Amino acid sequence: MYDADRQEALRLISDAKAILGVTHVAPDGDAIGSLLGLGLLLRQLGKSKVTLACDDGVPEKYRFLPGAADVVRSTRGRFDLILALDCSDERRCGRVFRAASTGRAPVINIDHHVTNTEYGEVNIVLPDTVATTESLFRLMRAWGLELDPDLASCLLTGLVTDTLCFRTANVTPEVMRVAAELMKGGADLSDITARTVNRRPYDSIRFWGALLETVQLDDRVVSVHSSAASRRGSGYPANGDASVVSLLITAQEADIAVSFVETDEGKVEVSFRAKPGFDVSGIALDLGGGGHRVASGCTVEDPLDPTRNRVMEMVKRARREQLARQ
Ligand code: AMP
Ligand code: MN
Ligand code: MN
Repeated sequence: MYDADRQEALRLISDAKAILGVTHVAPDGDAIGSLLGLGLLLRQLGKSKVTLACDDGVPEKYRFLPGAADVVRSTRGRFDLILALDCSDERRCGRVFRAASTGRAPVINIDHHVTNTEYGEVNIVLPDTVATTESLFRLMRAWGLELDPDLASCLLTGLVTDTLCFRTANVTPEVMRVAAELMKGGADLSDITARTVNRRPYDSIRFWGALLETVQLDDRVVSVHSSAASRRGSGYPANGDASVVSLLITAQEADIAVSFVETDEGKVEVSFRAKPGFDVSGIALDLGGGGHRVASGCTVEDPLDPTRNRVMEMVKRARREQLARQ
């Protein structure tokens, strides 16, 4: 199945002239690394009309990556083919994708989320890879393409950021082998780590302060929350929880961690993390989001307090059911 899909993907790419690559809104290192890595692979395949797009642009910390300055936030004109990277559903692909996919262009969906809805004409969804960049590395080999230092840097960035620098439970000897090949190919692991996992704006640390004032532990579920006003008060300009949920899940008394952050539009961004053995992907999927067993998220269009009450009940029930099955 996977063999046929990757051959079909290569055929669609060979036949296409104008190609659009897109990645998810609020992009992380795997989103940007896979988008820029795709651009380099398409160049090796001789494609010259390639547009790389993301609704939210490239966050400042990923602008060191080669090609980051070429990523656009909106597009015009028609495309013959769209490749979506690291997006578990069409909504995650954002406005650029919606605008381009109203035409007849086929979609190749390349991803590693277990909740992927297989929305493409071709779906290369590999939940056993730790990052979409690892999926791209496999495609690179299957298509007979070559590593160079720029491509290696983009691909290693996805591996480093989605595994929190090789600390997650899905890291296998094979992942370390891929990482070693990328390093041999010219990627600088310590530089990538210093620029991504080990770097954040001071404002985000102030925001952690506001969030941690609200921390609660309830039935081995640790949680924090923030209103939009509280986030603004801390000076943190972006949406989301500034990754505080990855800190919360280190609490030894917790099996699951949840953060609730109200956006300026009055929605609530919810992020989940689980200790290995627990699964938070289904909860996020039920709430219209998605993700992985141990890291998932969603956006809920209800006020903060009722959302917290409802989601915390769902999480505690899911935890009890999962414990009963262990
Ligand atoms: P985060 O907590 O934002 O780091 O996200 C953790 C995981 O959940 C990532 O793999 C995301 O792709 C996924 N995720 C987060 N928010 C959403 C959402 N609104 N819809 C679908 N997936 C999401
Ligand atoms: Mn991502
Ligand atoms: Mn990813």
